[in-house]
Formats: sequence, structure tokens, C-alpha cells
Amino acid sequence: MRQFIKPNILLSSCLDDIACRYDGSSVRSPFVKRLKPYANFVTVCPEVAIGLPTPRQALRIISVNDSEHRLVFSKTGEDITDKMKAFSESFREELLSEEIHGVILKGRSPCCGIKDVKVYKACGKSSATSKKTSGLFAEKILEKFPHIAVEDEGRLMNYTIREHFFTRIFTLAEFQTIKKKSIEELIKFHNENKFLFMAYSLFNLKKLEKLVTDNKTTSLKSLLEEYEGHLNKVLSVYPRPLRNINMLLHLFGYFSKELSQHEKAFFLDNLASYGNKKVPFSVPLAIIHTWVIRFENEYLLGQTLFETFPSDLIEVTDSGKGV
Ligand code: SF4
Repeated sequence: MRQFIKPNILLSSCLDDIACRYDGSSVRSPFVKRLKPYANFVTVCPEVAIGLPTPRQALRIISVNDSEHRLVFSKTGEDITDKMKAFSESFREELLSEEIHGVILKGRSPCCGIKDVKVYKACGKSSATSKKTSGLFAEKILEKFPHIAVEDEGRLMNYTIREHFFTRIFTLAEFQTIKKKSIEELIKFHNENKFLFMAYSLFNLKKLEKLVTDNKTTSLKSLLEEYEGHLNKVLSVYPRPLRNINMLLHLFGYFSKELSQHEKAFFLDNLASYGNKKVPFSVPLAIIHTWVIRFENEYLLGQTLFETFPSDLIEVTDSGKGV
């Protein structure tokens, strides 16, 4: 079993069962509850942080002259945009002293929603427009951390988004510990993640590879900075089925001479089924994994690809929405 470093996650307080919503309620998020033992949460409720009481009047975002969004109390129209912006900016500066590996915010909130917040024409009984936007607090966080995973609890109900989120936060948390060590540790990290990165982007994998092999003249600090930049690029896209298939065929090549015709045919059939969206990626990957164990391939046994996050977090449900 792989040992995982706990990632630091910025979290909307109400998702951590803290009753800070405008109506005095909290949000029960089974996802957050499951993740809690495996992560360090930094919680924040921007509305409470600027001094609003709980319970309080609901807020909304209104569009002014079709060009500007303002945060106002839904009933009275009192405008608290500047106060929220000032808080969000100072909060994100404070956050820079902490290493944050991922963000989970409450969807649809006029402060925390990342992209699905309703925009109203005015306060009072006015209806919502067809436009959606980011909450004021979320907007500042997205600006400051363009390279880390920022999701809301609704999107994380989607299987692909969730698995990708977990892979990113646990890989980044591990990389942060490498940053405090040596070039040897960086090479080890790179080698152990090679097939994971190959699934994401062969192009960026080659760039990372070049960095760790041509490291003679570069200082460790600048090497790590450059490596981190490419690592963030690698992890910022979703692995595509074709890339996964190519990577699995690469792994298959390690064993093809040792396998019977039936075993090869069985694997290739399952790979084709994965390509046709009839079985998940985990099926052909598990077949390869059994061969890695059976043939005791030490190099492949150390690959993170076979366990990119703690297995207790595996959840096969899928909302089917998002990505
Ligand atoms: S969504 Fe954000 S602002 Fe609203 S209660 Fe939750 S943490 Fe507070």
C-alpha cells in the first residue's frame, strides 16, 4: 500500500458541516467527509469573514449596465462588492504563505461558486438572466491559483472530475515534499510518476524528462521551479482515452513475450472495450497490474499510476454532468 502525503485543501466552511449559510444551515457533503481523514482543510466562509451574521439576508450578483457585476443583498440592494473584494484579495495574499494543493468551494454561491452563479437584473423580485458567472471570492482565488485544481462539490459528483482532482492534489502534495530535498529525490519522483504523466501528455512528459536528465548546470531551485511549471501543465488537462490506450500498450510491451496468446487476446479485447467506452479505464489497468505483480517487475511496481490516491477514496458513482 502506498503512503500518501496529506494535501492542503482550501474549503468553503459550510461544506465542512459548519452552519454558516445565510439561513443558518450547513451542507452535507459525503465527498468532503470521506476526504477529511486524508487531507488538511483550510476552511473559510467569506461572508462570515467580512462580519455578516448567521443567519442573514441572502445575497445575489446583479448585472449593472450589462458590464459590471455587483454583490448585493437580494432584498434591500445594499452593495457589499468592495468589502468582499478587499477581503478576498487580502485572504489570497495570506494564503500564499501556505502550500495549497487544491480548492473545493460551494457551487452556485454568489461568493464561492466557481462558474455557475446566477446573475440577476436587479434586487427584489427581479428574475435571473441567462448568464452565469463566478462568485466574487472564487474569482479572486481562481486568478491567484490558475494551476491548481479548483472544483465545487457538485462537479466532484462526476467520476472523471473527481478522479482527476484526487490525482492532482495527491501528486502535487508529494511534489511539495520533494522540493525540500535533493535532485536524487526529484529523479525518483519523476521515475515513479512516468506512466502517470505519459497518460496525461507524452509531449510534457518528454519536457520533464529532459529537465531531470540535463540537470548538470542548473541550480536545484531553478530546476524545481521549471519542473513544477511543466508538472502543473501536465496535470491541468484530463487524460484522454487515446493517450491512456497508448500508455497501456507501452506497459503491455513489458510482458508480451511472457504471456500466452489467450492472455494477450483477453487484454487487447478489454483495451478495445475501453476505447469503445464499454468498460472503465480501471479494467485494462487492473489486468496490467496483475502482470506487474505476477512477474514481480520492480520498476513498474513502484509506478504511482496503479494507485494515484488512497483507495478508500474510490467511489464509482457518477453524476454524468460536467467535465
Ligand atoms: S457558500 Fe461560501 S459564503 Fe456561503 S456559507 Fe458557504 S462558505 Fe460561506
